[in-house]
Amino acid sequence: MQGSALCPGSFDPVTNGHLDVIERAAPVVDLLYVAVFTNMGKSPLFTAAERVDMLRVATAHLPNVRVEAASGLLTAYARDRGIRIVLRGLRAVSDFEYELAMAEMNKQLYAELETLFMMTRPAHSFLSSSLVKEVARWGGDISGLVPDHVSCRLREKFGTARN
Ligand code: ADP
Repeated sequence: MQGSALCPGSFDPVTNGHLDVIERAAPVVDLLYVAVFTNMGKSPLFTAAERVDMLRVATAHLPNVRVEAASGLLTAYARDRGIRIVLRGLRAVSDFEYELAMAEMNKQLYAELETLFMMTRPAHSFLSSSLVKEVARWGGDISGLVPDHVSCRLREKFGTARN
């Protein structure tokens, strides 16, 4: 696909589910922006700078991925950079209504913007940043769910030892 695409999200923190979508999307576009947005409905565990940092480490092997912190409207961010494709991951039917509303709203604000969806791998269909945080908070094993450096950051945040 020609041009650039945008993977927006809270990434609080990045999980192997996010990375799977990013790794599959990067080879099919020229440039993939991964933008860390502030979701007003969620209070983040990690600062935007920490989330960007973890994503940069996790995507260092992908030369056409650019990770940035973003604020304000997604459509303004995309318009400023000439991006016309938003890429979102879909895990289960429960994601659908929220994603449909977002895609419709973004289309109203920026008619040339298309939202494309990528289905998660079955192994990641239960995986969310919130669930990972909940398990990590109580010292549970999150290996295989997030990259090792992210799991270290989570243990540091919660002051938990490896379990
Ligand atoms: P947001 O707060 O915008 O929903 P998230 O960080 O929770 O941000 O998610 C960012 C994107 O990654 C969304 O499109 C979401 O559906 C997708 N995503 C999250 N977890 C997974 C997963 N396990 N597999 C595939 N996509 C996922």
